[in-house]
Amino acid sequence: MATVINGKEHAQQLRDNLAIEVSKLKSDHALVPGLAVVLVGEDPASQIYVRNKAKQTVEVGMKSFEHRLDTDTDEVTLLDLIASLNADDAVHGILVQLPLPPHIDEFKVINAVSHDKDVDGFHLMNVGRLNTDGGGVVPCTPLGSLMMLKSQLGDLTGLNAVIVGRSNIVGKPMAALLLKANCTVTIAHSRTKNLEELCRTADILVAAVGRPRMIQGDWIKPGATVIDVGINRIEENGATKLVGDVDYLSASEVAGAITPVPGGVGPMTIACLLHNTVQQAKRIAGIDLSD
Ligand code: NDP
Repeated sequence: MATVINGKEHAQQLRDNLAIEVSKLKSDHALVPGLAVVLVGEDPASQIYVRNKAKQTVEVGMKSFEHRLDTDTDEVTLLDLIASLNADDAVHGILVQLPLPPHIDEFKVINAVSHDKDVDGFHLMNVGRLNTDGGGVVPCTPLGSLMMLKSQLGDLTGLNAVIVGRSNIVGKPMAALLLKANCTVTIAHSRTKNLEELCRTADILVAAVGRPRMIQGDWIKPGATVIDVGINRIEENGATKLVGDVDYLSASEVAGAITPVPGGVGPMTIACLLHNTVQQAKRIAGIDLSD
């Protein structure tokens, strides 16, 4: 049976380290990192995410600023709020919860956030840096996945990594990170031929598809490390359940290690958001990032 990569424990460890770092920033530099989260509309899942993010921000000793706007808020009002947060010295990270209502241009809003306060790594400047010198902020879900992979496997050099999914928020940045870690990287998507065979070549298999239990145990190379990014809500035996993109039961009989859903990539994503906020606060204050 595969080793379970426990995302809750990894996230707790990261938050514990961040709490120590935040306390040092306060005592040594009089700096309290602040994260502003902007939510437009009433999407129930987004409301839960925003509540969790705010709670965990405060728990590690940082300041949390919440801005909740009505669904019919116009783009100009949202852009004005972002401009005021860009100018606010108490705010070091700005997160606009996605998805936005359809009348708002997501691309425009993401790039209106100062790249110095972007904690999602979605701003064009940070996307560019991830794919060049690597000096910017890295999207939270791939960053958390990489941290767990390194903790599980150590040096990733030379490993074959297959990522199923090519979105801007997961698949592509995951590929950039694994390439930087010296893996040989293949990105698969809905038009990929012989997907099952391709998955069987992977030492590291990352599933970021959004299709419940699509990847079966017999798609997995024995001993491979599987990172299941998918979060799918399904009805089963009269109950609502969260499942990943990987069929956990069959996969865990073949894989060497695997992240569960829930309790895998999800908790690390929020912990990495806090990590990115601390990094941005240090960057803005001119504090060495390795301090
Ligand atoms: P997107 O819908 O943006 O992208 C899905 C990708 O999967 C696309 O590239 C698509 O290919 C590919 N795809 C779809 N169907 C198939 C198929 N049959 N075979 C191969 N590839 C396929 O999703 P996201 O990247 O935003 O999210 C992926 C999953 O991860 C979702 O379940 C989401 O909820 C979850 N997620 C979890 C997070 C966490 O914190 N744990 C954070 C973010 C997302 P194509 O490009 O050709 O259409």
